[in-house]
Amino acid sequence: STPLHRKPSWLRVKLPVGENFTKVRKIVDEYKLHTICQSGNCPNMGECWGAGTATFMILGNVCTRSCTFCAVATGRPNEYDTDEPRRVAEAIKLMGVKHAVITSVNRDELKDRGAEIWYQTVIEVKKLNPHTTIETLIPDVKGNWEALYRMISAGQEVVSHNMETVKRLYRRVRPQAKYERSLEQIQRIKEYGKRTKSGIMLGLGETDEEVFEAMDDLVAHGLDVLTLGQYLQPTKMHLEVAEYIHPDKFAFFKEEGLKRGLKYVESGALVRSSYHAERHVNV
Ligand code: SF4
Ligand code: SF4
Repeated sequence: STPLHRKPSWLRVKLPVGENFTKVRKIVDEYKLHTICQSGNCPNMGECWGAGTATFMILGNVCTRSCTFCAVATGRPNEYDTDEPRRVAEAIKLMGVKHAVITSVNRDELKDRGAEIWYQTVIEVKKLNPHTTIETLIPDVKGNWEALYRMISAGQEVVSHNMETVKRLYRRVRPQAKYERSLEQIQRIKEYGKRTKSGIMLGLGETDEEVFEAMDDLVAHGLDVLTLGQYLQPTKMHLEVAEYIHPDKFAFFKEEGLKRGLKYVESGALVRSSYHAERHVNV
């Protein structure tokens, strides 16, 4: 297997250059928006921004959670910005994308978990971009289902909620989340009538059997689309990579997921939940 101190060849990425890249960066800066591409140190920035697309992260740049894989800063966030929905909508219009993915930090300190800003954001984006499909990658609402329904009732086409890892690794990877609660959130999104999507990172020490178990649980809770990607350590302070998963193994997991009843599986080392998201809006 590949030594862990060296990234394998299949993780090489495109350099961030080109006209589109500069245009996206200018829009993000001018509209004072955050992106998970930057805040999460995403390896695909060269490719996605180079293709003129980015994933905005709303409700600030500080998260109340401390997931051990994530590069977003943990802390007590500031008051939220009620003008942000308008700016997100205008930025998406300038980018001119067919499909927009929006995510947010967790705002556990807010009674509504940020649902109102989520709702306003999707409404504003739809108003200015009536032909753009919207995918919202939403946080764990911690069982506040009223907040969940507000968050997902603004007309977005796809609602994602990432499981991130297998059941056994939750305490280590997502200490403030619960495996069963995230499954229930996905089930409720499905029952509400939305296309459901989730993501799992591989290379954290999970076994094949544990991945299959997660797939079966997700199918049982109404999941449509699953993304599988390689976990990469954003800084030395974050969880270490346990294994670099070979591309053949990603292909194997894709087949397995389809066999187990998922409608669509996007599986590959560099796959992130927002990667090539436009491909599976209507599957
Ligand atoms: Fe941004 Fe997602 Fe692309 Fe990464 S995969 S650069 S987070 S849009
Ligand atoms: Fe990162 Fe999301 Fe976890 Fe916050 S809730 S630390 S943004 S993965």
